[in-house]
Amino acid sequence: MIPDPRGVRRRFHIRTFGCQMNEHDSERIADLLVADGMEATDDPDQADVLVFNTCCIRENADNRLYGELGRLKPQLDRRPGTMVAVAGCLAQKDREQVRRKAPHVDVVFGTHNIERAPVLLRQAADSGPVVEVLEAPVTADCGQTTAPGPGPARRSAHSAWVTVQRGCDNSCAFCIVPQVRGREVSRPFDELVAEVRTLAGRGVSEVTLLGQNVNSYGRDLTKRRPLFAELLRAVGAVEGIRRVRFTSPHPKDLRPETMAAMAETPAVCEHLHLPLQSGSDRVLKSMRRGYTSARYLERLAAARSAVPDLAVTTDIIVGFPGETEDDFAETLAVAAEASYDSAYTFVFSPRPGTRAAAMPDRFVDREVVAERFERLRVVVERSALARHRARVGRLEEVLVEGPSKRDPAVRSGRTRQNALVHFVPDARGGPAAGAYLDVHITQAGPHHLMGELSTAP
Ligand code: SF4
Repeated sequence: MIPDPRGVRRRFHIRTFGCQMNEHDSERIADLLVADGMEATDDPDQADVLVFNTCCIRENADNRLYGELGRLKPQLDRRPGTMVAVAGCLAQKDREQVRRKAPHVDVVFGTHNIERAPVLLRQAADSGPVVEVLEAPVTADCGQTTAPGPGPARRSAHSAWVTVQRGCDNSCAFCIVPQVRGREVSRPFDELVAEVRTLAGRGVSEVTLLGQNVNSYGRDLTKRRPLFAELLRAVGAVEGIRRVRFTSPHPKDLRPETMAAMAETPAVCEHLHLPLQSGSDRVLKSMRRGYTSARYLERLAAARSAVPDLAVTTDIIVGFPGETEDDFAETLAVAAEASYDSAYTFVFSPRPGTRAAAMPDRFVDREVVAERFERLRVVVERSALARHRARVGRLEEVLVEGPSKRDPAVRSGRTRQNALVHFVPDARGGPAAGAYLDVHITQAGPHHLMGELSTAP
């Protein structure tokens, strides 16, 4: 790593924007920097290297990043020599423009060359700013790994993300991911199962398989083309793994084999995140999603019938270009029929370079969008509350995550359906994070459950 005149280990701080994929990438960057002799710090003021791992899905993520970079200047004046790196999707998209907007950035690297982070930082320390963004990822079939780095990253001692695939071969009109993450590249099956075994050996009991469209996992592999269902079964069979989650499957590619694997593999949790985006067939076509609302609801019904007690969550965009009141009414109707356990709802934000950003009717009136957003929130909360209330009185297996973010006297955890449960700990403050225990559900809200530790043996 960069030579330090004080002879102490240099510290880095990573600020992550965006999705789970980005959080996982941040863990990989952290692993690489630690392997290079650095030390992580939670305090950005104490860091010698500040890494911003960015997102560009929505416009406000761009604005937030450039705002934060601008606010760094006093810190850089106070601590000359502090290095700033910008990584991730926005770096992939903006490239040299990052330094034009924020000239104090030392290193810019993209989503395809994360493993180069230590080298690029050293290079910048020796000879000045460096921008290195690759057009495409290395591919698994050409013999190079798509998961570079010193080993699997972990989000906690008991839970880990495992990236099964990078990039996306779809072309949703609103989405910039294919441009910044490239074509789909699946990691080899055996490598993934070995990684999960390694994680289990280190005490991890819950893994979340990550990909932009996990259902198409394996399609690009040439030597052997395993289905995602096979991967679910193999990962679920690893000794020590009690819970397997995955995100996100594309509705058009949700296969019966996946549902069967979910139903027949005890470790695979009863939770399906199935992005709807819109309930209007006209809007879905304009979005290039490749399904109709009827097809979506059919697949959802099939999943619910295959997997008992399945929780379903979704993503919905409000105010897509040209969305009329009739289109939105169809979205409300589908959302009500789907009866979601929760939903991530977004106001459409045009991303430069996407088809949607060039649509002539791209701006739906702001007040109309705000009012629709609120109506959708009411529909989703109604179904979430009903589904949560149905769990009151039941005993749920909860994986303890730790103290609640809002009240440290309370513990939080997740059910197999991924519902958040708060409960009062025992007299010794336990059980500790990573423990599995039975919680008796006593109350329900739209966003969480309340419960009591079971006294049953
Ligand atoms: S499936 Fe569509 S929304 Fe998802 S990453 Fe690919 S292009 Fe984007």
